[in-house]
Amino acid sequence: MRAGFYTGNYTYEVRDVPERAPIKDEVKIEVAWCGLCGTDLHKFNGQNGASVVNPPIILGHECSGIVVEVGPECKYFKPGDRVTCDPSYGCGKCIWCQQGLPNFCLERHGVAKGFADYVYPPEQNVYHISNHLDLQSAALAEPLSCVIHGLDLIQIQSGKTVAIYGMGSIGLLMLQLVRYTGAGKIIVVEKETIKQKLALKLGADMAVNSDQLEQISKEENIDYVIECIGLKKTMEQAIHVAGKNAKVLLFGLGNPKQPLQFNQFEAYTKELSIYTSYLNPQTTNRAVHFLESGLLNIKDMISAELSLEEMGNELRNHIYSKQGKVMVYLSGKR
Ligand SMILES: [Zn+2]
Ligand SMILES: [Zn+2]
Repeated sequence: MRAGFYTGNYTYEVRDVPERAPIKDEVKIEVAWCGLCGTDLHKFNGQNGASVVNPPIILGHECSGIVVEVGPECKYFKPGDRVTCDPSYGCGKCIWCQQGLPNFCLERHGVAKGFADYVYPPEQNVYHISNHLDLQSAALAEPLSCVIHGLDLIQIQSGKTVAIYGMGSIGLLMLQLVRYTGAGKIIVVEKETIKQKLALKLGADMAVNSDQLEQISKEENIDYVIECIGLKKTMEQAIHVAGKNAKVLLFGLGNPKQPLQFNQFEAYTKELSIYTSYLNPQTTNRAVHFLESGLLNIKDMISAELSLEEMGNELRNHIYSKQGKVMVYLSGKR
């Protein structure tokens, strides 16, 4: 089978790796689609993703597909099932797993590296999807589950004003979920006109640039600010424009070598709460339900469908990932 590897030093290679039968409770899945995540781009650029990177590694962790074979101990899946995956699980034994915090597991196991024709996750990481949900949308269960966890942390109250920085694929998912939490007003901060238009179509009340948001923040209280870019500048701005008693969620993946600076006195006088969000503890099931509800517009978020072989160029040049969500097709089944 083919697999797309990050081999270190800004290089990507499609290699042939042996295909095998599933063992124990593994589910062998013929991958249909895999989303390109911002963390894949980080890894390709020599930075860490959500964890440390030791190449060569197979990229991708947002995949969906069809079960082709199951291991002898597998109970809940059979060939032909349509599924999506959670790409990692906790050991169940360490101090963090014992506290119900598997996202901090000391030996987190990565599975379902989706830039490959087949993946072999254990069944605890596999989720059934209904027949009416297309496999391409189902591949977004992982990023959506991360967004759900972030929103769980800040508990948006209905009627309040929310600003969201960055309309990449995470920002667009965030926007649509925030709409359904009953936010009173959603202001998105985005410099690209084409993405501003898309944000307005997907439920934003206003789309502005960062200077305009700064002006707005002087006239009205921004109750929640969600940063989905990960740049020092925009994260610092997010803290600055947040209003009295506001909550700031720094969701974007920042550069570990660039600590933020902010004025503590200003934060103090606003009684600010600053949140971060790490991975997706037990939220995949809810992500699948949300996708199945049909409430989310996934189609308009997708900027390109590329083959495994075309990903080298995309990882180097970010042509389509700048415009929206890039989907890699493996079998390409819907
Ligand atoms: Zn991801
Ligand atoms: Zn653990």
